[in-house]
Amino acid sequence: MKLETLSIRVGREVEPATGDVVPAIHMSTTFERNVDGEFSRGYSYARTRNPGRRDLEKCIAALEGGDQAIAYASGSAASMAVFSLLRPGDHVVAPIESYHGTAKQLRALLTPMGVHASFVDMTKVDAVRAALTDQTRLVWIETPSNPMLNISDIEAIAQLAHGRGAIVCCDNTFATPLWQRPFELGADLVMHSSTKYFGGHSDVMGGAVITRDNGGLAEKLRDYQDTAGGVPSPFDCWLIRRSLTTLSCRVRAQTENAARIAEFLSKDKRIERVFYPGLESHPGHELARKQMKGGFGAMLSFCVRGGRDEAFAMAGRLRLFVRATSLGGVESLIEHRASIEGPHSVTPQNLLRVSVGLEHASDLIGDLDQALGN
Ligand code: PLP
Repeated sequence: MKLETLSIRVGREVEPATGDVVPAIHMSTTFERNVDGEFSRGYSYARTRNPGRRDLEKCIAALEGGDQAIAYASGSAASMAVFSLLRPGDHVVAPIESYHGTAKQLRALLTPMGVHASFVDMTKVDAVRAALTDQTRLVWIETPSNPMLNISDIEAIAQLAHGRGAIVCCDNTFATPLWQRPFELGADLVMHSSTKYFGGHSDVMGGAVITRDNGGLAEKLRDYQDTAGGVPSPFDCWLIRRSLTTLSCRVRAQTENAARIAEFLSKDKRIERVFYPGLESHPGHELARKQMKGGFGAMLSFCVRGGRDEAFAMAGRLRLFVRATSLGGVESLIEHRASIEGPHSVTPQNLLRVSVGLEHASDLIGDLDQALGN
């Protein structure tokens, strides 16, 4: 079945007892034992397993073409679940430019526990090759990357990593399974911040890790979900499952808008540079055409002429784009990333990142045009 069908059908069965077409929200934290002490209905305690989360996980696994999905309370809880697979002395290769929170977890939480991390330019396969050691257990990929939309070669990096006995996790948040299928390119794990396109309405936090099969990795990640306890609430699971039904329509339409905006900005003299993998001028364009499935996503960044002050001033003149962090919702957002990313940021001071929403492209382009001034 295709993604559109899976997003409607998987984990969303009609309730046999009542005929509910839309699944109910199961708020119970605890479930009745049998007289013999067993839990024959499969549920004992909501942190361990509950009906709404099970349905959400089934759907996410199907959308990514994996076997198991394990849902967490945020994307950050999901990346920590992957890092929990590491032990003191292990080494991780991660991108020099990526969501700053993931890099912060490695620096601030994993390094003190004896895990070593090398941050490299993942757009260069040779840089990854050079960074791999006998201790490397994990290579973390984020493509397209946040916020500079860099493209890394998932297939080539996975081959290298596997050759050295390391596993590969790909953060697929920006691309979504509509445009990128990391398992088909050799990734062992796929990770999402469900807060973004999966939730899609800027009103719910969530995260997920998807495994290719039901082997040891799935078992460890599920055990971590229960033991560390960073689980999404039944209502959060319900909201994300509900939003997945419209994932493909939303992301397709948002991507069309983003492509039009990128085209407009790339021809405008008031803009220094546009970062969008769908543009032929983007250094990763050819690779993105090869490894993405006909769409380049709905995130883009651009550098205004001048510096930080000019970037803030331009964002301040916008009327339709909301100045706010996060991405993937129906409303267009704009953000000065360098000021939120902390001391290790490599983002230019004149860069603004845009999450393109579902407003009409011509209204959004008109707004950018007036905000750029003369
Ligand atoms: N990965 C990417 C690419 C992100 O952009 C973010 C958040 O912005 C995260 C992971 C972390 O997700 P969350 O904010 O849900 O913890």
